[in-house]
Amino acid sequence: MSAAPPLTLPSKLPQVGTTIFTVMSKLAGECGAVNLAQGFPDFSAPQRLFDLVAQHIAAGRNQYAPMAGAAPLREAIAEKVGALYAANYEVETEITVTAGATQAIHTAISACVRPGDEVIVFAPVYDAYVPGIDLNGGRAVVAHLRFPDYRPDWDEVRTLITPRTRMIIINSPHNPSGAVWSADDLDRLAALTRNTDIVVVSDEVYEHIVFADSGQRHHSVAAHPQLRERSFVVSSFGKTYHVTGWKIAYCLAPAQLTAEFRKAHQFVVFAVNHPMQLALADFMRERPEFALGLAAFYQGKRDFFRAALAASRFELLPCAGTYFQLARYAAISAEPDTEFVQRLTREHGVAAIPVSVFYPCLEDRRVIRFCFAKSEETLAAAAERLVSV
Ligand code: PMP
Ligand code: GLN
Repeated sequence: MSAAPPLTLPSKLPQVGTTIFTVMSKLAGECGAVNLAQGFPDFSAPQRLFDLVAQHIAAGRNQYAPMAGAAPLREAIAEKVGALYAANYEVETEITVTAGATQAIHTAISACVRPGDEVIVFAPVYDAYVPGIDLNGGRAVVAHLRFPDYRPDWDEVRTLITPRTRMIIINSPHNPSGAVWSADDLDRLAALTRNTDIVVVSDEVYEHIVFADSGQRHHSVAAHPQLRERSFVVSSFGKTYHVTGWKIAYCLAPAQLTAEFRKAHQFVVFAVNHPMQLALADFMRERPEFALGLAAFYQGKRDFFRAALAASRFELLPCAGTYFQLARYAAISAEPDTEFVQRLTREHGVAAIPVSVFYPCLEDRRVIRFCFAKSEETLAAAAERLVSV
């Protein structure tokens, strides 16, 4: 019998391959390289958090959580954003727990974007945004955050807004550049969207990682009275509590937007891992200082890594926030960044992320990204290899 003919299935994402994070982590594993590519800590979360999960599992909290999220966790989130940003979000109607920030962002896009809608994104753009827009028939419109300071250009953004603009996706502190938006940036965004129906998705997963010596602080869209009314604000417990593998995050939005969000959310995941939600709620209450200490904790790692690379030929760009350090290698090689990271991994034993993958159609500036959410031993081992490049 002859084999069945292949299915006719034109790809909905013809340009998309496997994400760079998966590709580089796999290569790092194959080469035995130090993995400073994919962003995740290589150190443990507090033991107390694990004990709390075990307690909730033993206590039988192992069935579906409520669709919007476990009530104690939504209450803890409301308290946190109230204390930190003087922002008031209703537990019942304005806070939803999601399976990671990735799901929250994707769900916000699919709840709002229709075929033909335009969505403004800022490049370098986190790799999950544009495929989400494409899958929903929208069109990504790219505003540029230009090397070397990666500031938004509001005059450019003004020219990109059209009657078809449905959504603007922003991300501060910014992955991969580490740039942090100012209060003025949010005011400019508010002015440009005033009297429109544009919805904002604000990806704030690194909200707790803004370094004191940058002279900046995190300005949450949740704290901006005008933007709040048109925005989905997303944060991730993975980043804040060193548990990226738990994939638990949340989305704040006014009731009208949350209602639409939940219509999609309930059919994508329905609900999120129950005992872990309860453990996070307990931990937030017990250790409110943990999140507040995150910036100082990561500043120590940033400074350790930067000092260890001082003797290298990499040019280190400023880093105001996140756990990523950008480095320019123009003094070392003229290779495109995608080739340079491959060679760096294979020949020098350190994996990094090529920043051009976050840039639809922009020039390669010979910049790569290192993740410094690592133990000092890991950072020292990587730096020892990098100074000899
Ligand atoms: N947005 C940004 C900017 C990120 O860097 C990440 C993860 N590194 C995410 C979203 C996704 O977060 P999560 O793992 O909670 O899905
Ligand atoms: N967001 C993480 C990073 O920027 C990776 C997340 C993932 O692998 N999807 O490295």
